[in-house]
Amino acid sequence: MNTNNKGTPSPATHKVGNKKNRPYKQYEGSRNTSTRSTSEKSTVPAPEKLAEKPKTTSTKRPHPQKQRGNYPHMKSKKHLHPAAGGKVQKRRPYHGKKKFVDKRPIPKIEGETVRVITLGGVEEVGRNMFAVEYKDSIWVFDAGFQFVSEADAPGVDYTLPNISYLEEHKDKIKGLIITHGHLDHIGGIPFLIERMGNPTIYTRNLTAIMIKKRMHEFPNAPKLDIHIVEPNDTMMIGDLEFYFFAVTHSIPDCIATSIRTPHGNIVVTGDIKLEHEDGVPVPGEVEHWSQVTTEDNIMLLSDSTNCENPGWSIPEPRIHENVDEIIRNAQGRIMIATFASQFRRMIAFMKSAESQGKKIILEGRSIKTNLEIAKLAGKYTPADGVIIQAGDIDKYPSDKILILCTGGQGEQFAALPRMARGDHKYVKLNNRDTVILSSSVIPGNEISVRNLMDMLYRNDVRLISYKTSDVHSTGHGNQEELKWIINTVHPTFMVPAYGYHSMLKTHKRLALETGMDDEHVIVPDNGSIIEITDRNTATLLPMKAPSSPIMVDGFSISDMQHTVIADRQLLSSDGIFVTVVSINVSKKAMQKSPDIISRGFVYLRESQDLLSQARGIIKRVTEEEIKKSTGNRIDVETLKKQIHKHLERFLLRKTNKQPIIIPVILVV
Ligand SMILES: [Zn+2]
Repeated sequence: MNTNNKGTPSPATHKVGNKKNRPYKQYEGSRNTSTRSTSEKSTVPAPEKLAEKPKTTSTKRPHPQKQRGNYPHMKSKKHLHPAAGGKVQKRRPYHGKKKFVDKRPIPKIEGETVRVITLGGVEEVGRNMFAVEYKDSIWVFDAGFQFVSEADAPGVDYTLPNISYLEEHKDKIKGLIITHGHLDHIGGIPFLIERMGNPTIYTRNLTAIMIKKRMHEFPNAPKLDIHIVEPNDTMMIGDLEFYFFAVTHSIPDCIATSIRTPHGNIVVTGDIKLEHEDGVPVPGEVEHWSQVTTEDNIMLLSDSTNCENPGWSIPEPRIHENVDEIIRNAQGRIMIATFASQFRRMIAFMKSAESQGKKIILEGRSIKTNLEIAKLAGKYTPADGVIIQAGDIDKYPSDKILILCTGGQGEQFAALPRMARGDHKYVKLNNRDTVILSSSVIPGNEISVRNLMDMLYRNDVRLISYKTSDVHSTGHGNQEELKWIINTVHPTFMVPAYGYHSMLKTHKRLALETGMDDEHVIVPDNGSIIEITDRNTATLLPMKAPSSPIMVDGFSISDMQHTVIADRQLLSSDGIFVTVVSINVSKKAMQKSPDIISRGFVYLRESQDLLSQARGIIKRVTEEEIKKSTGNRIDVETLKKQIHKHLERFLLRKTNKQPIIIPVILVV
């Protein structure tokens, strides 16, 4: 590879293999089976054959005329569902997406092959984890988690990457490299580190403090072995040499890695943006990349989070200047809501306030924790008396007060929404207050942020948000920054990472704009395995490492929670319907009319007609089964199935609902 100045790359400088040895080729089986016969190839099932058909239960097709009269209440969306189609389609469980995955076992790694495995964070923002494998070593990058929405997985706290592949090769793991201290990169450590054999963690100081702080919440987790690395350190870990370099993000002490493999270097960026002035990276930023840019890089795994935003991101120092200005000019108190993860900014705001002789009140646990971490890491320690308690707010003139708080996303119990509602014990808002929302709206939170803004305006405060002035900037690079990174690293292969699939594909387009060609940009999924076999060849294997997310649900951690989640979703949308049937075996008759209990389904008192019809069905089915029985034996399991089947059809037809049905049979 051309190792001189790579400011203007051209496709010609990429190594493009000839047709026989295409750089990014389709997998043709494991390397020692290149002469497989066509009949062998045909044993691989076609994607359509593997794709699971939705489970259906057919019912008799009802007459459309009759149906129309019967269901005036039906919503148009669901109208065709039971009434016209005649098929009862089961709801899909959580994570029901179907993709063709080659079920053959993953071949053993051989010779000088280097594997890159994207275990998490390439089909979502969060849950980041990659692994690199070479000979007898595996190195893992990050162990994050992802918060999940209540609608997707009710009751689940968060999901973790699936580490079955790593558990299987636990003895080979030589280290866990953590790029920075955000939860989507460190959140999984307490749950996963033991399963990985408690490998040494390599990271920078602030990240190490954040990891340790979090471990306090998990007293049963093992003691960690953390090795602090500094930018520009070079060290052997296992069989390969690692070079670490500093990168910019919304939190200090971020580290990127260049792994020196026999085929060239693999560069893993972590979350990243560039410090720049009007689209020109500042000298300090260029310096960070100076070593990497002179080297022979086979692969780049880079942050895709903001690749849909054109241009350059707003430089963070400009945000600090703007907020400094607002703090200086404010007539009354100032409340600033920001993400606790915006560590750099939080410190900058506090420094601003302190330098202007203001007192600071911290509201929100994560903000208080971050100040403690900043002190421990030597990043910032406020002078004595600068931080005051909320209860002392009235002891100072209002233009001497700055409140840093959580709740900018409208979270119900966070500090700012409580102030806005008038529920805060010490802070009552008034028309002299200035509120700064120094954060963007996380997709999905639009309504709660709108409600928060409405409530704030009801207090007649002066409201400043990222929409009206530059008081927020992202921690991730925009398009021009990402292109600069690709040009600087000038890799033979580019792997867009950290983001949803759509972001990865957009990042791919950016890579093509820099002059890379289609065959050199590999878009992975969770579980994808990319093999680098020489300086020109990277292959995406058709088989994948297990990638279904592990769910953290209360105290249980498992990747087999899907059934439980599917039940919870049904319960939350359609409720539960229990019937208790008592049978007197000696009399071969029902002891009494069946009992029905239901929750979250229909209001029973107003559904007497429905209930009596349901009872009728249960009675009829039970009597039929009793007739079939011989001697004093009743086939309870068959009876349950029959009641379930008939009730499910009946209730769906009558109510367009599919409650969870539980028949209970008492034999006396
Ligand atoms: Zn981050």
